Amino acid sequence: MPRVIIHDAIDEAGLDLLAGRADLEVCEVARDDDERLRREIADADGLILRYLPLGTEALAASTRLKVIARHGVGCDNIDLATATAMKIPVATVGDANAVTVAELTLYFMLALAKRSRHYDESVRQGDFLVREAADHLELYGRTVLIIGFGRIGRRVAARCRAFEMSVECCDPYIPQQDIVDAGCTPVASLAEALPRADYVSVHVPLNDETRHLIDRTVLNSMKPGTIFVNAARGPIVDGEALHEALEAGHLAGAGLDVFDEEPPRLDDPLLRHPSTLLMPHMGGSSRGAFVRMATRCAQNVLDALDGRLDSSFVINPEALE
Ligand code: NAD
Repeated sequence: MPRVIIHDAIDEAGLDLLAGRADLEVCEVARDDDERLRREIADADGLILRYLPLGTEALAASTRLKVIARHGVGCDNIDLATATAMKIPVATVGDANAVTVAELTLYFMLALAKRSRHYDESVRQGDFLVREAADHLELYGRTVLIIGFGRIGRRVAARCRAFEMSVECCDPYIPQQDIVDAGCTPVASLAEALPRADYVSVHVPLNDETRHLIDRTVLNSMKPGTIFVNAARGPIVDGEALHEALEAGHLAGAGLDVFDEEPPRLDDPLLRHPSTLLMPHMGGSSRGAFVRMATRCAQNVLDALDGRLDSSFVINPEALE
């Protein structure tokens, strides 16, 4: 009987979908039980994976794995080259949480523009006259630069347009007409666009090209007072350089859902900086998204075992050849 391993808790909706199939054996492995996962993977046919890094050694232990269904979109925790060489398709949840991350991005932009931490605390402390500063900002009429115009980036763009912002997008890997058709302006390079942008939000995958894409040079090229958002992956940004830019007052604020190291060290200066607004990497994990992701993962596993996995969810299509 085919065996499906679920590593870490997923929503009941996904479990119910799998339970509906009497011809499957489902084995749930707790988050911290890496050892058991490595044992169970040996004779698993399907794997639903949340956060654990799945490296070469663990993959090599599998003898009949037919699919890895990632409970999310980013796959930087999976050794893709080995999975592909072993002809194991890696399927993601597509756009199941794209809206969720886009909403979080707008939350960061708005809360930082309104200086929400500062004013909330001032009212609680009885300092109502702080209002005389009249210094919070608007999104209206401002320019946002969106880096990466994929599932999330284009949803951020649509929401920014609803706020009557001017939306510029940098994504050299897609037809530039897609950006124009979405009512936005394509830009050829970050260097060209950064000095114009009031808000910068990054929505690219983490890979060798994008690691530290936002480095000291890029941060220094931003307009003074820029509000920066990273709800993609921590290592896309040089955290030390970001802290310097905030400390120097060059950036007005940074919204961070993701960190270089997760969880971040308590002595990470970004945790203590008054101009940062933080979330514990849950930009894609709203209630609704959690149900959608679990359902999609479970469906991807069932489809793969039935030989009809939808290739649009597969990020290493070479594995299907
Ligand atoms: P996607 O694959 O649909 O879009 C990514 C886009 O980035 C693509 O259009 C690609 O062409 C573009 N791109 C790649 N390299 C680039 C570069 N150097 N410069 C500019 N553009 C580049 O992915 P998505 O679903 O929009 O997700 C984006 C990333 O967001 C994921 O890879 C994941 O790491 C992250 N994410 C985070 C959370 C969270 O909880 N915070 C949730 C979901 C996804």
